[in-house]
Amino acid sequence: VTTNRIVASSEVEQSYIMIKPDGVQRGLVGEIISRFEKKGFLLKGLKLFQCPKELAQEHYKDLSERPFFPKLIEYITSGPVVCMAWEGAGVVASARKLIGATNPLQAEPGTIRGDLAVQTGRNVVHGSDSADNGKREIALWFKEGELAQWESVHTPWLI
Ligand code: ADP
Ligand code: MG
Repeated sequence: VTTNRIVASSEVEQSYIMIKPDGVQRGLVGEIISRFEKKGFLLKGLKLFQCPKELAQEHYKDLSERPFFPKLIEYITSGPVVCMAWEGAGVVASARKLIGATNPLQAEPGTIRGDLAVQTGRNVVHGSDSADNGKREIALWFKEGELAQWESVHTPWLI
């Protein structure tokens, strides 16, 4: 099948999405992954990973002065996380919409946090807040060679 691409490759970006330890412990991995799959983004990287403290601190370094920072680091390192790289046009902003507001009580129903979480300190999932941070975070959490070079058979209709 030949299909014309409708999105320029310059519009394609990547977001770092992570299921936090509470999402893994509560058995929400499949549910969360399926929302990004059904939306139509392309999975480029995926692993279950126990995050070292130094990596959590680097990932959240912009929040290091906040009072909740030590608790945040404790939370992120409290159990395995699922690290993902998702690709597509507009994936960064779209993933933030799918995830919902930081405080799950303010997140709209239909969003991951709106449907599945209650506390800001246990909000089940992370999503990059800009394309630049998407790049930075994917480089931080994945080693060279861990990202797949592939295009889904469906993507000619999506990208
Ligand atoms: P987001 O994850 O929506 O981008 P932020 O970047 O502001 O939110 O914060 C990063 C993470 O730090 C949040 O997802 C949440 O886990 C934690 N966090 C933010 N604010 C608080 C807070 N007031 N109390 C406890 N944890 C917080
Ligand atoms: Mg953030």
